[in-house]
Amino acid sequence: MSQNPLDRSNFTRPQLRPPGDADKVLLHSCCAPCSGEVMEAIKASGIDYTIYFYNPNIHPREEYDLRKEENIRFAEKNGIPFIDADYDVDDWFVRAKGMEWEPEKGARCTMCFDMRFERTALYAHENGFSVITSCLGISRWKSMEQINECGERAAAKYPGLTYWTYNWRKQGGSQRMLEISKEERFYMQEYCGCIYSLRDSNKWRVAQGRPKIVIGEKYYGPEVDSQPAA
Ligand code: SF4
Repeated sequence: MSQNPLDRSNFTRPQLRPPGDADKVLLHSCCAPCSGEVMEAIKASGIDYTIYFYNPNIHPREEYDLRKEENIRFAEKNGIPFIDADYDVDDWFVRAKGMEWEPEKGARCTMCFDMRFERTALYAHENGFSVITSCLGISRWKSMEQINECGERAAAKYPGLTYWTYNWRKQGGSQRMLEISKEERFYMQEYCGCIYSLRDSNKWRVAQGRPKIVIGEKYYGPEVDSQPAA
């Protein structure tokens, strides 16, 4: 493992420029595996950034704490400011009411992204950021279009705030996400995050003859070859 995980000199990267050539970016993060590569890409372009962790969708609390602590550990290792926002799970359940049986990428997920980006945009507005972005779209399990629409909708509430729709999967980003996760031996979530995605993932696994998900059991390592399900 390299001493500085953001110093991978054998990997050529494009020079990224945030919208409006902003000198700092607020990065909404859902977990360490998804944000690791995005952090590396932003850092490699010399852009100042802060991580904003606001994910009241994650259930149960044990899983939420695992994902958050892993993200904090990696941020601290690299000296990146980390904002630990509320876990206002009651509000998330109020908003999800009536959407319990929505499929992934459906209306419940739009609500979920909206809620997380609304808070991110508010924090950005109150703390002098003109650009927000998110690592959510790096996962191939997600709809980049859906995420970008939610991000842009949230940013549009504040004058001068822009959601950066950069496709973090490009230029080998998806592969780097996996490599960093293995090198760092990140905790590996096996479902998107909410109680309904846990239910549906377990239902699918049982139908495949596989055991149900055990919270806190799986970590990335050399033998693992799949992306996080978040
Ligand atoms: S499946 Fe994922 S994105 Fe959709 S509502 Fe649940 S946690 Fe949010």
